[in-house]
Amino acid sequence: MKKTFLYLLLTLPIVVFGQTDVRMYDIINSVSTERIEQDITTLANFGTRHTLSDTLSQTRGIGAARRWIKAEFDKISAACNSCLEVFYQKDLVKEGENRRIVKDVWVVNVVAIKRGSKYPNRFIIMSGDIDSRVSDPNDFTSDAPGANDNASGMAGTIEAARVLSKFNFESSIIFVGLSGEEQGLFGGKGLAAYAKEKGWDIVGVLNNDMIGNITGVDGVVSNRDFRIFSEPVPPTESEDQRRARRFYGGEVDGISRQLARYVHKMTKTYMPEMNPMLIYRLDRFGRGGHHRPFNDAGFAGVRIMEAHENYTQQHQDIRIEDGIAYGDVLEHVNFDYAKKLTAVNAINLAAIAWAPPAPENVAIGGIVEPSAKLKWDKVDGAKCYKIYWRYTTYPTWDNHKYVGDVSEFTLNGIVIDNYFFGVAAVGPDGLESPVAFPSGVFR
Ligand SMILES: [Zn+2]
Repeated sequence: MKKTFLYLLLTLPIVVFGQTDVRMYDIINSVSTERIEQDITTLANFGTRHTLSDTLSQTRGIGAARRWIKAEFDKISAACNSCLEVFYQKDLVKEGENRRIVKDVWVVNVVAIKRGSKYPNRFIIMSGDIDSRVSDPNDFTSDAPGANDNASGMAGTIEAARVLSKFNFESSIIFVGLSGEEQGLFGGKGLAAYAKEKGWDIVGVLNNDMIGNITGVDGVVSNRDFRIFSEPVPPTESEDQRRARRFYGGEVDGISRQLARYVHKMTKTYMPEMNPMLIYRLDRFGRGGHHRPFNDAGFAGVRIMEAHENYTQQHQDIRIEDGIAYGDVLEHVNFDYAKKLTAVNAINLAAIAWAPPAPENVAIGGIVEPSAKLKWDKVDGAKCYKIYWRYTTYPTWDNHKYVGDVSEFTLNGIVIDNYFFGVAAVGPDGLESPVAFPSGVFR
């Protein structure tokens, strides 16, 4: 025993890459179940937060709800020396835009930006939704507490802002409450357009929609399972890119999928008790969420949500029918589970905002050669790079090699045909960028 220990000591490298970052445990432990419960309760108590509901009342309707959310962000900012830029971003949606817009309405998002010190224009975004609904999507007066859908995601976003406001980051983090989700994803569409217009460099969107239910319609009860939905490739890809994929691969390696794998890996590393499920689809079968408008605009974005949904508790008039209690009410929310998924978000926001950006212009070569080779543009602030590879049928980046502060590398004896490859940039504290899949080839 003793000998082995001594041997290990002597062979330990001086520089340890990829070490545990203890700040992540601070972040996880700082997320409060009690505050999340309070905030979900406050949001549910606005009666309805339907996008078309009353905006003048101070106690009921979406106007009161968004003013309260803005006040919370302002309060958080006041406690951190004005570290957040808080504002409304809004767009007028005209009556008849679709069947769910029965009158002209301002779709108003509440945005809070924690500005990065090194990359102020580079953003990682966490979103939840402000609005709620009942059975009839156009009923904007009935009680629609939307406790899980989506006060849970909204409360998680506010809580993540509280926790991360205590730290400083190189890249900017945005915490946003989006509106108009149930009427046709209008808030996300509006903010994505705003981002394009402002030239925001968005690393990705972590959209939280329903993070509070642990009792599924399938009979499964689990406070550890959760899902990360991501589309395979961006809908904005060009015909040339699509054609290149036939020959070089990448069908399951778009930017949103890399973000999903990042969240999966961070969770496995820092919250190993959780069971993240990578779901290889844009969203639930035929259903929608607010990450999609960002995907439509060419940005990476994933949906984080509970694994076991209960459809009697979503988009339902509150009632009892055949002994079943319908409605999205507080009683069905597991606040401790919402806390866990909030922590998942917070560590991923922090890791991406602390890590250097992913390398650009990653190219791969090695056709009819015994070794795959990669090259990339160096990233300012990266201490080294990490090449990842995996079998073509595997979902996660299971193999890796640290390759130092270089801009090209040959993986001896690794044949290009049998694996997929990617490159991540690693910062001085060991935190990594998302993996960049090669976008070019060379001989
Ligand atoms: Zn919904």
